[in-house]
Amino acid sequence: MGYNCVVLAKQVPDTHRITGQVMNDDGTVNRAALPAIFNPEDLNALEMALQIKDRFGGRVTVITMGLPAAAKILRDALYRGADDAILVTDRRCAASDTLATSYILNCAVRKLEYDIVLCGRQAIDGDTAQVGPQMAEKIGITQITYVEALEALEDRTITTRRNIGNGWQRVRAALPVLLTVTGDANEPRIAAARRMMKYKNAYTPMEVEQAVRAANPSADDAAIRKLAKDEVDALEKRGLLIKQWDLDYLKADLTWCGRSGSPTKVHRIQSVVLAAKESKDIAATDEGIAGMIHELIQDKIIS
Ligand code: FAD
Repeated sequence: MGYNCVVLAKQVPDTHRITGQVMNDDGTVNRAALPAIFNPEDLNALEMALQIKDRFGGRVTVITMGLPAAAKILRDALYRGADDAILVTDRRCAASDTLATSYILNCAVRKLEYDIVLCGRQAIDGDTAQVGPQMAEKIGITQITYVEALEALEDRTITTRRNIGNGWQRVRAALPVLLTVTGDANEPRIAAARRMMKYKNAYTPMEVEQAVRAANPSADDAAIRKLAKDEVDALEKRGLLIKQWDLDYLKADLTWCGRSGSPTKVHRIQSVVLAAKESKDIAATDEGIAGMIHELIQDKIIS
């Protein structure tokens, strides 16, 4: 029978490689200074979905909402074992906060058949961990957050172990369900060479049109559109088309998208640089600790 798994994956700047050039003077992130990567915990979500497919059968569909360049992580997902990939891209998505993002992604998920929706716990750039839970609310399904293990899946009932900080909790729920998956859940598999050879030729319609334009610089728009359509049809026949959905296709209510759908307002952005000025070794003895507390009281750091 199998399960239909839908994985939400975000392309993020690699915040582990932050350098001096990464912040613009106005406090925004200079995205060009950082390589764009697959959000790490979304790889764990993808791996969990692939393991479900390996054990029980079914399909794994990966969705990302982002700029056209986010198609790169969709190819990566196909290399690792995903069956389908969907890019949600539209200029009217710009300036979406987490509420608008989760509304748009919920519209995309609703277009599909799903038993289990899997998100990473948190994205390493926005860092809010809000999108998964907000989506579950909007889709109207049960959510289990901080999942660190999938213990069982039978009779349309899923049993998971979730991390609760200083311990764990076993949670059982009826499908359909949305999981947010932590980085401890598994070791994401690497891309398979054979799949890379196949899916390196998987493109979105927008990428196809760009390539056609570059190859035919003197062709007019109508000719470009015709050539691009033929190429897209050929890719679809070969199972190599990355689907591309916009807000019209999703029949999204535009008042819930982009700036108008985003109640969050950013008033000020401040860079906080934490730097140790001096360090001191404290002996791990009662005397060492008593001396440190005495110093902290003297310096009025504690009272
Ligand atoms: P989290 O909630 O930490 O992500 C949790 C999980 O949800 C992820 O692991 C992933 O599985 C899933 N997920 C999250 N985002 C996506 C996605 N895009 N596609 C697929 N899955 C996803 N960002 C812009 O790029 N352009 C803007 O113009 C912009 N304007 C903003 C304006 C405001 C006022 C605010 C507050 C934010 C803005 N953002 C913008 C950031 C954007 O809202 C967040 O990047 C996005 O909502 C995801 O939130 P997060 O990064 O905290 O994800």
